Amino acid sequence: MDLSVKDIYRPLTFDEAVAAFSDEPSMLPIAGGTDISVQMRAGKFAGAHLLDLSGVLPRSISADGGFIEIGAGATMDEIADSGPLRSVCPALCQAARKVGAWPIQCRATLGGNLANASPAADTAPPLLVADALVVAAGQGGLRNIEAEDFFAGPGENTLKPGELIHSIRLPVTDPPSFSRFTKLGWQREQIISVVSLSISLHLNDQGLVTKAAAALGAVAATPKRAPSVEAVLVGHSLDPAAISRAVEAVQNDITPIDDIRAPAWYRRVAAATLVERMLEEASGA
Ligand SMILES: Cc1cc2nc3c(=O)[nH]c(=O)nc-3n(C[C@H](O)[C@H](O)[C@H](O)COP(=O)(O)OP(=O)(O)OC[C@H]3O[C@@H](n4cnc5c(N)ncnc54)[C@H](O)[C@@H]3O)c2cc1C
Repeated sequence: MDLSVKDIYRPLTFDEAVAAFSDEPSMLPIAGGTDISVQMRAGKFAGAHLLDLSGVLPRSISADGGFIEIGAGATMDEIADSGPLRSVCPALCQAARKVGAWPIQCRATLGGNLANASPAADTAPPLLVADALVVAAGQGGLRNIEAEDFFAGPGENTLKPGELIHSIRLPVTDPPSFSRFTKLGWQREQIISVVSLSISLHLNDQGLVTKAAAALGAVAATPKRAPSVEAVLVGHSLDPAAISRAVEAVQNDITPIDDIRAPAWYRRVAAATLVERMLEEASGA
């Protein structure tokens, strides 16, 4: 098997990387390399011209107006341990801590997890729930893509040719009362999700849900929001009847397939179970 690459270009700045990629969009950007190395071993990308982003991607996590901006090069380990993120979007920190094992978390970047566009990408559900923006950099400067519009299909995203992910912006003006991520995989955290779920809730003083957002991974061609679950929760307290309605509603939001990790019927049962357990936790039951 030919694992060789044609050559590697190491820009000195992010702007240089953007300029080079705009000129030659056939280059293959590489950040942490954790997805690309697996795909190379499977025979993809032989003879590729690599664009090494590892030294030039923004990677800080900083407050910016009503947003927290996460550089595309921030690693899962940095995200999992970020104090500001833990206080406004704990679900994202929980997801980052479940991307493979710790050595993977120390290399895997947020930008790579999103650009790879796996239906099972663990950081996607919390970002969908948080109404995050993916900031793309190209020849024309920066543009925002809503997380919900970013995923186009398995392995496909809506970046234009020559665009790189610069950062991810999380609105933080109205932090939720409850924000969680969970996943089901055959070896707990060490493996790609069979089903993943993130829910965020705003609850008022009477315990009524005033805002609900839910998203799932690995149950459709892309990670996706669960509008039916959200609709049955808003305006209700998290009593057993509301939880049962959400458990039923999630079936309308998913279109799982059979694959090597699990059959579709199993994913349907697992999605229902994860929704039930997470809402029971939110209710304090
Ligand atoms: C053992 C193992 C376990 C894993 N477990 C999980 C898991 O539990 N959950 C999970 O979600 N993932 C898992 N992964 C997948 C992987 O670690 C993540 O998707 C990771 O976040 C990818 O980031 P990276 O920086 O390594 O990306 P890379 O491999 O460098 O790149 C991935 C893709 O993104 C593109 N890319 C990278 N950065 C940018 C950018 N800034 N702009 C545009 N395109 C870019 C690359 O061209 C490539 O197509 C696992 C991988 C391994 C090897």
